[in-house]
Amino acid sequence: MKNVVILGGGVAGCIFALKLSQLRDDVNIKIYEKSSKLASRILISGNGRCNIYNSHFINGFNNDKFYEIPQKIISDGSGIEVFEYMKKLFNTDFYLEDDRYYPFSNRSETIHNKLVSLIEKSKNISVIYNYNVKEISYKNNKLILNKTDEINCDKLVFNLGGMSYLYDKFNYTFLDTFNLKYTKFTPALCPLKLDVNYFKKYSGTRLYANVTLLYKNKPIYEENGEILIKDDGISGVCIFNCTAFITKCELNNYQLNIKFDGHHDVKLKLNSDNYKDNISVKFCDLIDSYCELNNIELNDALKNGLTFKIKDLYDFKNSQVSKGGICIDEVSLNNFELINNKNVVFLGETLDISLPCGGYNLGLAIIEGYKGAKNFEL
Ligand SMILES: Cc1cc2nc3c(=O)[nH]c(=O)nc-3n(C[C@H](O)[C@H](O)[C@H](O)COP(=O)(O)OP(=O)(O)OC[C@H]3O[C@@H](n4cnc5c(N)ncnc54)[C@H](O)[C@@H]3O)c2cc1C
Repeated sequence: MKNVVILGGGVAGCIFALKLSQLRDDVNIKIYEKSSKLASRILISGNGRCNIYNSHFINGFNNDKFYEIPQKIISDGSGIEVFEYMKKLFNTDFYLEDDRYYPFSNRSETIHNKLVSLIEKSKNISVIYNYNVKEISYKNNKLILNKTDEINCDKLVFNLGGMSYLYDKFNYTFLDTFNLKYTKFTPALCPLKLDVNYFKKYSGTRLYANVTLLYKNKPIYEENGEILIKDDGISGVCIFNCTAFITKCELNNYQLNIKFDGHHDVKLKLNSDNYKDNISVKFCDLIDSYCELNNIELNDALKNGLTFKIKDLYDFKNSQVSKGGICIDEVSLNNFELINNKNVVFLGETLDISLPCGGYNLGLAIIEGYKGAKNFEL
C-alpha cells in the first residue's frame, strides 16, 4: 500500500481524498484536520445556500487576463468533468443564478453532510480531527509532524487554506521548508476603507451603483451591484470583487469610482429640480457632502461618479479569502505537484490564484482536488 497524507481537511483536500480513494485501492489516505469538522467552509458558502460553482468553469473565461490561470487549469475540459462528477457525488443537480451554481436543496448542509459521510464511510480514508499541524519535517518518505508523530508518507498534500475569516495566522515556515516562492497573504473579498471622514452618518445606507476599480487612473474592473456604506468605507459583493484585483502593497495606486446614474433615485434627480422631495435624504446628503468637499457640481458628480482613494482593506476576519500564497509556477497545473518535488502537492487557497465571489473559489478548490487525484502519480 502507498501512504498519502493530507494536511488540512479543506474542500480541495476532501475532494482529492474521495476521488483518489475511488480510483485506487492501493492507497491509504490520512487527513490531519485542526478542527472537529472537515470542509467546514462549505457550510458558510453562499450565505448558507452553497454557491459551489460558476458557469465560467463550464463555458470558459473569454481571454480575460485576471482569469488566465483558472482558464489554463480547465483547458483540459476538467471544468465540465468536475461539474458532472459533483452531480453524481452529491446526488443532486444544481441550478444557475447569475453565473452561480447552487444545489437544488439550496442548503449548504446537504452538500457538506454528503461529503463528510462519503469520507467517513471510505475504507481507505482516515481522519485525525483536532490535530493542529505546527511543524513538519519530510525526508525520504518519512513525515514527522510536530516533532513527535512519525508517519510513512509517499505523497504529502498541503491543503491548509489561508488566513481569512476564523483562521489563525498562516505558518509560512511550511512553505520555507520546501524553498518555495510565495507572496504573504493579504485579505481579499472584504470591505474597503476609503479616505473619507464623513461616511459615519450615512452608515447602513444601501444603494445600487456602478463600481469601477481604477489602477493608476485606468479602469481595471467594473461591476454593477448593491453597495453598503460603512462608518469608514464601503461594502457589498461588487466591492468584495474589486478587492480580488487589488495588490495591498500598491494601495496608493488604486481608486474607486462609484456612479449612481442607473439608480432610480438619481434618474429622478436628473429629471427634477426638487430632488430632495423624491429621493432618500441620506443618499442626497452623501453626494452633497462629496461635492462640497471636492468642490464639484452636483450634476457632474452624478454623471461622472464619485471617486475615492482607497485607504485600506478590512482585516482577515472580515475577508472571505486570502490573496497571495505560493507562486503558481511552482506547481504543475495538471496535478498540483511541486515542479521540484513530485512527492509534494499543494491544493486550494494556499496557491496564489485570486478570484472574485460567485462560486469561483470553492469551484476551483474542487477542480484542483479532482485533478490532483485524477492525475496522481505514484
Ligand atoms: C464567509 C465565507 C463565505 C464564502 N463563500 C463562498 C461562496 O459562496 N462560494 C465560493 O466559491 N467560495 C466561498 N468562500 C471561499 C471558500 O470557502 C474558500 O475559497 C475555500 O474553502 C478554500 O478551500 P481550501 O480547500 O483551499 O481550504 P479550506 O476549505 O479553507 O480548508 C483548509 C483546512 O485546513 C485546516 N487547517 C488549517 N491550518 C491547519 C493546521 N495547522 N493543521 C491542520 N489543519 C489545518 C482548516 O481547519 C481547514 O479545514 C467563502 C469563504 C468565507 C470565509
